[in-house]
Amino acid sequence: MTRPLAHPDESPSIVLSYEHAASVVRRQATRAREEALRRRTVDKVALGDALGRVLAETVVADRDQPPFPRSTRDGFACRSEDLQEGGLRVVGQLRAGEPWTLGAIRPGEAVEIMTGATVPHGADCVVMIEHVSASDGWVNLTGAREIAAGENIVPAGAEARAGDVVVPAGQRVGIAEIAAAAACGAAHMAAFGRPRAAILATGDELVDVAEKPLAHQIRNSNSYSLAAQVRAAGGEPVAFPVVRDDPDATEKAIREAQSCDLILLTGGVSMGKYDFVEQALLRLGAEFYFTGARIQPGKPVVFGRLENLHFFGLPGNPISTMVTFALFAVPMLRALGGESEDRPRFTMARLEEEVRVKAGLTRFLPATVESSFRGAHVKRIAWQGSGDLAAAAKANGFLVVPETSEHLAVGEIVTVLEI
Ligand code: AMP
Ligand code: MG
Repeated sequence: MTRPLAHPDESPSIVLSYEHAASVVRRQATRAREEALRRRTVDKVALGDALGRVLAETVVADRDQPPFPRSTRDGFACRSEDLQEGGLRVVGQLRAGEPWTLGAIRPGEAVEIMTGATVPHGADCVVMIEHVSASDGWVNLTGAREIAAGENIVPAGAEARAGDVVVPAGQRVGIAEIAAAAACGAAHMAAFGRPRAAILATGDELVDVAEKPLAHQIRNSNSYSLAAQVRAAGGEPVAFPVVRDDPDATEKAIREAQSCDLILLTGGVSMGKYDFVEQALLRLGAEFYFTGARIQPGKPVVFGRLENLHFFGLPGNPISTMVTFALFAVPMLRALGGESEDRPRFTMARLEEEVRVKAGLTRFLPATVESSFRGAHVKRIAWQGSGDLAAAAKANGFLVVPETSEHLAVGEIVTVLEI
């Protein structure tokens, strides 16, 4: 049922610090995840297509890993206690992929063995080829070396026992998960269906990228950047037509978007006369968790719930949209996708040039980060504010200035948001 058009004063004003707002989103994301899991859809995904998907079922070891005691070196398998006694007689050779058929190794014997081969019964160590001299069917330890039992052997089942969970449900499939699943014989995996995120860009000035804008018009870039961000966070973007700055049109579009799993609106959340997003949501009976955050860019960001769906009203300036999505919508979308952990999105880097700002807002400033094995360095990029997409395109991260800081000194270790 539609309530009468809300007077602007009726809109609640809940403005939180970044950290407070982030914790509110996290709490709601946990709730949304539980609800999403109850009505989950599951896709059967081929291993080769599983990267980035979230597992709906555990991947279980179908046999011990390793399945046999595995040599981790090229060398000689033998009994460690025999090594100080003098030469050992070489009784055979074993390659990876070859079964050992000659029975247990006896005292005084050694088998030449390659990395990845099955260590024969009776042997309790593998001496590296670099640590022996071998000739005429005999092998001797060189130098004063102690070789302990177990050296260079991974016992059968040491990595996982048959039936052990190797990758838990709720984990996003990355490179290591692909390898682990392949090792378990999982040619297909059960993955949660991708959450569908409705994208509603609002603004009378907007035209599509394919159209030629008039002098006073702006190309709609947010629908495209948001779709890309939704995909990167594991969701499926559902692009709606641009919504005109009109309360009824906004309300109608939001109602249509309720068929998705999450609603993303951009623009129309500021204090202007033609910003109708909050009013439309209010008329539809939405509950607001916050209507602003002490951040720059993105201060007017809105988060709430409409019936059984969460929504974000993201400020329309393109960098504000991008940053607020990364800060708040990413954890929600990942949770809706069934992912059990909020993945780290912040890294640390050493500041190359000092930064001075006014305190009172947590700032996310476009920056370039360079990294090597010694660590990362970050430098901010000059920008014209939150509409400056050219600056964003030069950046590969956003330098974080905490709410209470006015000055970050050269050499300080600072936080960087990855987008
Ligand atoms: P708003 O948040 O609606 O007040 O918009 C703030 C600024 O962002 C205005 O300059 C808009 O033209 C611009 N803007 C809003 N929506 C978009 C969009 N979808 N794509 C590009 N720019 C936008
Ligand atoms: Mg607008």
